[in-house]
This record gives sequence, structure tokens and C-alpha cells, in this order.
Amino acid sequence: MAKNDLKMFCYQCSQASHGTGCTVKGVCGKDSLSTHLQDNLTFAARGIAAYSYHAQELGYTDEQIDTFLTNAGYSVITNVNFDPENLLDQALEAGRINLETMRLLKDAHIEAYGEPEPTNVRTTPVKGRGIIATGHSLKALEELLKQTSGLGINVYTHSELLPAHGYPGLRKFPHLAGNLGGAWFDQKQLFSNYEMAILITSNCVMPPLENYQDRMFTTGLTRVPGVRHIDGFDFSPVIERALSLPKYEDTNGARNLTTGFSATTITSLADEIKEMVGTGQIRRFFLVGGCDAPLEQAEYYRDFVKNLPQDTVVMTLACGKYRFNDLDLGDIHGIPRLIDLGQCNDAIVAVDIVMALAEAFGVSIHELPLTIALTWMEQKAVAIFWSLLALDIKGIYLGPLLPAWIDKNMLSILKKRYDVKLIDEAESDLVKIYRQAA
Ligand code: SF4
Ligand code: SF4
Repeated sequence: MAKNDLKMFCYQCSQASHGTGCTVKGVCGKDSLSTHLQDNLTFAARGIAAYSYHAQELGYTDEQIDTFLTNAGYSVITNVNFDPENLLDQALEAGRINLETMRLLKDAHIEAYGEPEPTNVRTTPVKGRGIIATGHSLKALEELLKQTSGLGINVYTHSELLPAHGYPGLRKFPHLAGNLGGAWFDQKQLFSNYEMAILITSNCVMPPLENYQDRMFTTGLTRVPGVRHIDGFDFSPVIERALSLPKYEDTNGARNLTTGFSATTITSLADEIKEMVGTGQIRRFFLVGGCDAPLEQAEYYRDFVKNLPQDTVVMTLACGKYRFNDLDLGDIHGIPRLIDLGQCNDAIVAVDIVMALAEAFGVSIHELPLTIALTWMEQKAVAIFWSLLALDIKGIYLGPLLPAWIDKNMLSILKKRYDVKLIDEAESDLVKIYRQAA
């Protein structure tokens, strides 16, 4: 994955060169690196805003998040900050604030719905009418489940709502029937295949095909022209539409996957895990996941997980997991080899587990036998990435394609300071990982 030396592009003020944009150096004096670092800060702030939004839906706010977002927004205004080092410091601060934001959202989820428990989730439809809910909002899903109780409508999750099944406060609804499809980009096929109403609670939404546009609804901040939007949480129009559709008949048999592993579930096994590491039954942990995109190169993550030796445990989260969460990796004396921790914001759960393991082993997190391989799509991934760097985690594998604004100069900073590595071939990367660990 070669990276070009991307020149800057900025058109945010009326001084913009030739009235179109500054592309070499800003008329204001801003250079290319500062422009990219300002973009980096803006994108990280957007990711934090998304998690903060979902915490706010459940009534949770934190003044330090608001203060950070205010400062980050002001820093990137014209003629405020020309200092690359300070913009890098602010990126690390974004990472720290994102850890707080993800923790706030996790606390909000646990307070509202209980701590997740490992749960088998059906991945095929059952007979009857249905609504498919996608996005990240557990609050919207909860309201939908309440309003559809006793109406004979099955509610299915899709994409980033899969982890909802692990929460006792959501799992208690018997008509939360399963999860259909995989990562967000299968929407057109999935929504065409199943004649059900569709509720989009956040990203990633795709402009709909005509054949299902009239049974699709958006809520929260999501909007798509020609698609009916619901302000607030009164989902009567979605329910009405679902009831007007035929009942689903073909069940195709039941298939399941497991989600809902919490920090408590895993850390309660810390002694067993420590013993297994001590006796060589577990040799390495991998954290593989992140935002996914419809790129052929992303098959890397499936190859990567498939090629892992039997004495490894894989933690995963976000929609990148759909690349491999159908694989049966078995277990190591009762410890599952594939552990689904949840949505992308559940990166905080991964952090808590890693910290707890480090404490149990009496080492720093850098000394743990742990490799992180992330797939990167949009701006929440920027915030999470800087959270990991703020914890001084080095040697992260990134792919399959980095966003265009991470140019050669940005990448060189990340490589030099944080030993960031770009993915290559799964098998050769694994050889490198094991060689380095030896
Ligand atoms: S802020 Fe600076 S770099 Fe951006 S358009 Fe204005 S003069 Fe150009
Ligand atoms: S994990 Fe990222 S790519 Fe996947 S649905 Fe969420 S925001 Fe979109």
C-alpha cells in the first residue's frame, strides 16, 4: 500500500488561492502537514461526537468532552494554529477524550440494559412479519422493541446492532429474533431480499434501491432524500409499514453466532487464562476488527484469522468482524478462541481487558503477547486509533487501505513514533509477527 506525498487542499476561507483552494501552501501561512493534522483532529472529533451523541441519547453527558470538541473545533479555524507538534498533541488528547467518551457510552449502555453476556444469535429469519434495524443506536432499538411487543412482528438487527443481543435489557424481548446480514455494505442485497420494514438508526446508511425505499425509515441524525424520517422515538409509521407487508415464510433453518462478551466475562477468567499462557496452551492474543469497507483487500482479515495457530485467542469488534465471525475457531479448554466484544465503541472493553490481563500477568500492556490488526473505514476509527496511540500502544497493523488524507508524511510520523505497520499478506504478516515475538 504505497502512499503519495499528498499536497494540501484547503478552501475554508476567502483568502483561498485563486478563489478555489490552497494546494501547495496556505495564503495564510499554513503548510501541508498542519493542514493534514488539522483534518486529522477534525476527523477524530467527529468520531468522538458520534459516541457522545449515543451517550446523550441515554442521558449521559460529560463537560470535558464538550470542552474538547469546542477547543478542537476552534483550533482548526483559519489563522489559529500553525504548529504541527501541538496538533499532534491535540490528536493524542482526542484519543484520551475518546477513551472517556467510549467509557461514558459503555456505562450508559450497562446502566440502561445491563452488562452483556455471551449470547447465541440466530442469523436466519423466522416465520412472520419483520423489521430490520441497523446502525448503532441501542436506544432506538429499545424503543422499537417496546412498541412492537405483542404485535407479531419480529425485530432483527443488522450490522453494528448485532451486539444488542448480548444486553439482558434488550435480549428479554422475545421478538428480538436474530441478526440478518453482515457489515453495512450488504444493505442493498439484504433489504431487497427480505420484504420487511427497515429502520436506520445511524451510519452506515446507503442510498436505497427503489424496490425497498418505501419501506425504509431513518431516525436520529440519519437522513436520506426520499426516505421517511422519524423525529424522536415514535416508530408507529415503521410498525404500520411492517404490518402491511406479507409474512416471511421460508425459514432456511437456524444458524447461529455468538456475541456479547463483556470485560467482566473475560476478566473473571483471568486466572485460568494466566495459567494457560504459563503452560503454553495460549501463546498469543489478537485484537482484529474495526470499521469495514467493501474492498477486496479486506479479505486479508479473514485470511489472517483463518491462519492463526490453534494456541491463539482473537478478540473482535465493530463491523470488521463480519469478515470472519462465521468461522468456528473452537475453544482452548473452555476459553472461546473468537470473542466478539461488540460495537466499535466497545474498543473500551478491549482496552479494559488488555489492562486487566497486563495486571494479572504483572507486566505493562506493551509486554503482553498481543497483536492488534485494525481495518479502517471512517472517522470513528480515527478517534479509536488515537485512543490506542494515547495508551502508547505500538506496532498496530492497519489496512486494508488508509484514508487518502493519511499521506506519506503523516504515515511517516505514525511509523516513526508508533511503529505503525501497513498490512501486506496475511501469511507473511503472521510470520513477521511471530518472528518479532520470538
Ligand atoms: S485557511 Fe489558509 S490554507 Fe485554508 S483556504 Fe484560507 S488561506 Fe488557504
Ligand atoms: S463500524 Fe464503522 S464502518 Fe461499520 S457500521 Fe460502524 S461506523 Fe460504519
